[in-house]
Amino acid sequence: MTERIDGHTILIGLMAYPIRHSMSPTMHNNAFAKLGLNYVYLAFDITNDKLKGAVDAIRTLDMRGSNVSMPNKQKIIPYLDKLDPAAELCGAVNTVVNDNGILTGYTTDGTGFMKSLSNEELNIHGEKMTLAGAGGAGTAIAIQAALDGVAEISLFNIRDDSWENAIRNVKIINEKTSCKATLHSLEDKDDFKNEIASSAIYCDSTGVGMKPLEDMTLVEDPAWFHKDMIVYDTVYAPRTTKLMEVAKKAGVEHVFNGLGMMLEQGAEAFKLWTNEEMPIEYIKSLLF
Ligand code: NAD
Repeated sequence: MTERIDGHTILIGLMAYPIRHSMSPTMHNNAFAKLGLNYVYLAFDITNDKLKGAVDAIRTLDMRGSNVSMPNKQKIIPYLDKLDPAAELCGAVNTVVNDNGILTGYTTDGTGFMKSLSNEELNIHGEKMTLAGAGGAGTAIAIQAALDGVAEISLFNIRDDSWENAIRNVKIINEKTSCKATLHSLEDKDDFKNEIASSAIYCDSTGVGMKPLEDMTLVEDPAWFHKDMIVYDTVYAPRTTKLMEVAKKAGVEHVFNGLGMMLEQGAEAFKLWTNEEMPIEYIKSLLF
C-alpha cells in the first residue's frame, strides 16, 4: 500500500454512518492496486449534520468523488450540481463524481442489478417483473429496470414507512418511463401468487432472509414459481437464503443472491471515477 501512495494519489471517499463494516474500501483499493491506478479509497463516518462539510471537502481536496450510503443518500442531493437521470428519478445518490469542481450524483445499485443479469446472458427487456420492497435497493432496481425497458412491474410492499415510497415509485415509473407499474399489498397473498406466476422475474429487495430474519421468506411454497423464471434475492449473507431454497426446490434454473449486484454496483462506480473496468473476478476471489 505504501508503495502505491505518493504525492499524486487521488482520494475517493465513502460517506455514511455506520460504515466501518463496509467491504467497499477493500474492494476498491485492491482493484486500484491490481490495475496500478493511483487512487486511494477511504471510509468516513459522516452523519447528516456533517454532510455539507464533507461534500465541500470533495471540491476543496480535489477528490475524484465518493460513495454515499445511509443516512446520506437522499440528503446529499441539494449539495450536488447535477444528477444523472436514474438518480433523479430515484431521489437518491450512491456515487458522486467530481469533474473539475462540478459534482454529479449517480445511483449504481440499479445498473449493478441489471448488469448482474446481463452477465448471465439474461434479458428482461419487454418482460414482467414482480418486485417486493420499495426501500433503497427496491427503488433503484424498479427505476433502472423501467428505464432499461422492462415492460411491467408489479410492486409489492407491506404497509410500513416504505409504503409512501412505493406509491411514489409507481407514479414516477408510469409518468417518466414506458413501463407500466402497479402497486400491491404484500398482505394479499393470492394477488402476490398470481403476479409472480405471470412474471419472468421475481426479485425480493426487502432484506427478509437476512439477519435477523434469516429463517424467513416471503414465498414459502415452491408451486408459486415456474421453472423458466428468474428468482433474485438482493441479500448476499447468507449466500443461499430461504427464498433461494424454495426457488431451487421448484426447479428454477436462474436463482441469484445479491452478490453479483453488490460487485457490479461497485464496478459501475469504479468505472465512473477511473474510466477503467474493475477486475471483478479478481475482487471476487479476494473477498468471497
Ligand atoms: P430499506 O430499509 O431501505 O428497505 C427495506 C424494504 O423492505 C422496504 O420496502 C420495507 O417495507 C420492506 N420490509 C422490511 N421488513 C419487511 C418484512 N418483514 N416483510 C416484508 N417487507 C419488509 O433497505 P434497503 O437498503 O433497500 O435494503 C434491502 C435489502 O437489500 C437488504 O437485505 C440489503 O442488504 C439488500 N441490498 C443489497 C444490495 C446489493 O448490492 N446486493 C444493495 C443494497 C441493498
